[in-house]
Amino acid sequence: MIANYHTHTPRCNHAQGSEQEYVDSALSAGLKILGFSDHTPYFFPGDYYSTFRMRPEELPGYVSTVNALRDRYADRLEIHVGVEAEYYPKYFDRLVDFLRQEQVEYMILGQHFVGNEPDGVYSSQPTADKAILEAYVRQGIAAMDTGLYTYMAHPDILNFTGNRSVYNEWMGLLVREAKDHGLPLEFNFLGFREGRNYPDQRFLELVAQAGLPMVLGCDAHQPEALQVPKVETQVREKLGKLGIPILETVPLKKLG
Ligand SMILES: [Zn+2]
Ligand SMILES: [Zn+2]
Repeated sequence: MIANYHTHTPRCNHAQGSEQEYVDSALSAGLKILGFSDHTPYFFPGDYYSTFRMRPEELPGYVSTVNALRDRYADRLEIHVGVEAEYYPKYFDRLVDFLRQEQVEYMILGQHFVGNEPDGVYSSQPTADKAILEAYVRQGIAAMDTGLYTYMAHPDILNFTGNRSVYNEWMGLLVREAKDHGLPLEFNFLGFREGRNYPDQRFLELVAQAGLPMVLGCDAHQPEALQVPKVETQVREKLGKLGIPILETVPLKKLG
C-alpha cells in the first residue's frame, strides 16, 4: 500500500496509540501517504452525548499534533489531517464551518447512523426493513451531493438481512451515484479482518458490475493496523478475482 487515509487516534475513545506511533507504524509499513481521519466532533442539541468521537474542544489539539508531525516528517511521509464524518443534515453546516475554521483538510464519509444520530438507527444493526436501507442510500447520496467528501468509508456498513433483489436495487443505486459523483468507495480492512458485516459480498459484486475501482482503507484504531501485509495480500486477491481495480491514491477534496 502507498496510502492510507483512514486512521484514528485515542481521541475517539475507542482507539489506542499516539499519533507518533501511527506515524512510526506507517513508515515501517512503507506508506508514502498517511491521512488521519479520526471520528469528527459533532454539535448535537440537548444533553445527547456521542461516546465514539472526540469533543469539539479536542479538535484544535488534534490538528496541531498532526500538523507538527507533518512538518517533522515532510521528507519521508506525506501526512494529512482529516476527519471521518457522518452526514447528519440537521447538524452538518455547523460542523463544516467548524472544521474549516480549525483547518481540517478533508472529510471521509462514514455513515454510522441512518437519520440524525440522536434519534437515528445504528447502521450495522441487522435489519430487514427496506425503509431503513432506502433511507441509508438516500442519505449517502445527499452526502455525495455536498461535494465535500473525499471518499466513502465502509459504504456497505448497512446490515440489510432482507431480500437480495431489494438490496441490489438500493445499493445498486448508491454505487451508480458514487460513480456519477466520482466519489471513491472504500474496501474496509477493519471489517474484513474482524469478519464484520462489511465488506459485504453483495455490495462488492455491485461495485464490480458497475466497473468501479475501490480505495483500500485500514480504518486503523491501533498503530499495528497499518502493518497488515497478509491482509493486504488477501484483499488484493479478493478484489482481483472480482475484477475490481484498486485506487492506490485518491485526490483529497480540500475543505479550505
Ligand atoms: Zn472507530
Ligand atoms: Zn473509521
